[in-house]
Amino acid sequence: MNTSGNLVSAAGLSNNTKFEAGMSKLKDFLGGRCPRCGAGKVFESRNPYNFSKMLTTRKECPNCHLDFIPEVGFYWGATYVAYAITVAFSAFNFGISTLIFGFMNSLNFTYVIVNAILLLIFCPLFFRFSRMLWLWIAHE
Ligand SMILES: [Zn+2]
Repeated sequence: MNTSGNLVSAAGLSNNTKFEAGMSKLKDFLGGRCPRCGAGKVFESRNPYNFSKMLTTRKECPNCHLDFIPEVGFYWGATYVAYAITVAFSAFNFGISTLIFGFMNSLNFTYVIVNAILLLIFCPLFFRFSRMLWLWIAHE
């Protein structure tokens, strides 16, 4: 009988352990860390709004030496991820605008300008998120 109250899966890990491992991976992902060791930082600067180092991705993990740029043009694929995020974000903003101002009132230039400003503000975060997602997909 399992006295700890955890269900033991076929892999031998309890559901709580799997949950904790998943949360740890999510924390590493959102923290911009290496997909293999979870210790090394992927980007040079911690601050995504540091414009001089915003685009600087390390060549390899400082901890486990995982290659962060395995081939030339590796991150071209991340632009598709960024595009999808941008479209989803704009659609979300349009939905919010429709809820507040109504559908017809949202089909105007104000929405375009406000959405463009929001996209500029969130651009560094989308950039990093898409690169991280691409890197983590490649190393899963
Ligand atoms: Zn690493």
